[in-house]
Order: sequence, then C-alpha cells, then structure tokens
Amino acid sequence: MYRAALLLCLPLLAACTTVEGTGRSQFNVYSVDDEAQLGQEAYTEELKNAKIVPATDPRAQRVQKIGKRIEQSAKQRCPNMANRMTWTWTVVDDPKTVNAWMVPGGRAAVYTGMIDFAKSDDELAVVMGHEASHAIARHGTERASLFNLGTNVVGAVTGSGAAQSGAQAIVEVGLNLPHSRDQEIEADEMGLLIAAQAGYDPRTAIDLWKRMQANGGGPPEWLSTHPSEGTRIERLQKLMPQATAIYQRAQQNTPAAPTPLNAPPAAAPAPGPTSAAPRSQSR
Ligand SMILES: [Zn+2]
Repeated sequence: MYRAALLLCLPLLAACTTVEGTGRSQFNVYSVDDEAQLGQEAYTEELKNAKIVPATDPRAQRVQKIGKRIEQSAKQRCPNMANRMTWTWTVVDDPKTVNAWMVPGGRAAVYTGMIDFAKSDDELAVVMGHEASHAIARHGTERASLFNLGTNVVGAVTGSGAAQSGAQAIVEVGLNLPHSRDQEIEADEMGLLIAAQAGYDPRTAIDLWKRMQANGGGPPEWLSTHPSEGTRIERLQKLMPQATAIYQRAQQNTPAAPTPLNAPPAAAPAPGPTSAAPRSQSR
C-alpha cells in the first residue's frame, strides 16, 4: 500500500507529505485547510439525526476531561498538525454502538456504548488517542487521495468522466472510507503514546483489544479492516516499554497528589489556622 503510495509520489511530489509523529511518507492531494472543511461537513452530516448527550451530563464531562488531556498531549507530540485541528469531542447517546471516530480536522464523536464498554478512563483514552491519531496522520484524506486518483485515471482511460464529485469526497473523506490495516496499526501506535503522555496507563490497551475481540463488537472500522488481533497485540506489546516510560514520566511531571494543605515545616505548629488554609491552593 505505502510502497504504491511512494511510487505515486514520484511524479506528484507536490502531493507528498510526511506523517507527523512517524515520519512516514504519504501521498495526499488535499490541503490541511481543505480536509478540515470536508471533515466539518461530514461531522455535521453524520450527527444531523444523532441524539447528543448534553455537556452537563457526567458522561460528556468525562469525555471532555479525557479529550482535553489527549489534545494537550497530541499538541506536545505532533504540534504542527494538532495545533491546526479544531478539537471537539461530542458524546452520542447510543448504548448499542461501541464506536468512536474523529473526522479530518479534529471533530470527534464518542458513543455511549463505547463509554460503557471501557472499564476505565485509561481504556477510553486509548480509544480516543487512536481516533485522534487517524486525524493527525491524515488517514482519511490519504485514502481519499488514492481513491480519487484511481477514479480519475479510470475516467481518463475510459472517457467516462468518472472523476469524483465534491459531495462524494465529503462522505468518503469523512467517515465511510475504511482505513487500511497499515493505517490502523499506525493509529494504534501513535494513539498509545499520545494516551501515555496524557497520563493514561497504556498497558490497559492489551486487555481492551482482547475484550473487544471476545465481545465480537467494537467499532466497525476495527472489525472490517483491522490487522489480526495477534499482530495488533504483538505490535502494542513491542511498543509497551516505550509507552510505559512515557506514562511514568507523565506521572512524575503531573503532581501525583494535591499540594499538602499544611504549612511549611519551618512554621510553628499551629493546627487551627494551618488547617484553615485555603483549599483552592491545592489544585
Ligand atoms: Zn482505527
């Protein structure tokens, strides 16, 4: 797949780009601005009839909190792309759908079925990191670029004028074009490190993917195009020492516990006033 992409890149150097975070060469005819526009339209279309969980709902707040940390981590690891994205995490009330997605440009949806399926914030963060990585690595427009090129070539050869329309592109770029297996592995690996740097335990990813398989559920994209579970687990385990080191460093950088409320040791013991220290300082 990517060898083919590289060959395509030769005569079309202007359409060659590099995936931030992995350094992989990518063939992509879309500009970052264009894909953000397409992504926004696909996002609006997809959620047109969805039941959105209000922002005040604890489930939405939980996803927002994790999403903010994923965003910050992504901006540290992949600043060029992550800073150009519009980070939005919407929760869709649909307990039967174990799914999450992010369109090009950064808008994302997490279904309540996925929230219920995840045993912890760590697992949810692994999923959200995976989805964010698809957008950071520009997987949607990468697939659409190859598809578009193929369609145009067929059109030129047959004279059928089968070039893709803008409306088709929106649908394909947004959600319907399945990711390739290589893209899934790339999103797994990027997402694991992003979640780890956000302070979420990457080791939970192994059990998450195993349960997903055992459940026979999981996001359709994972079922339809995923590498075999063996490959996926092997790749994740290989990356785990690095991910764990990043996670532990993130833990050290983040205050593990709130600053103690008690006065500095030099201060004379004065339980009354000391215990009344302002709590807001501990955050
Ligand atoms: Zn994926």
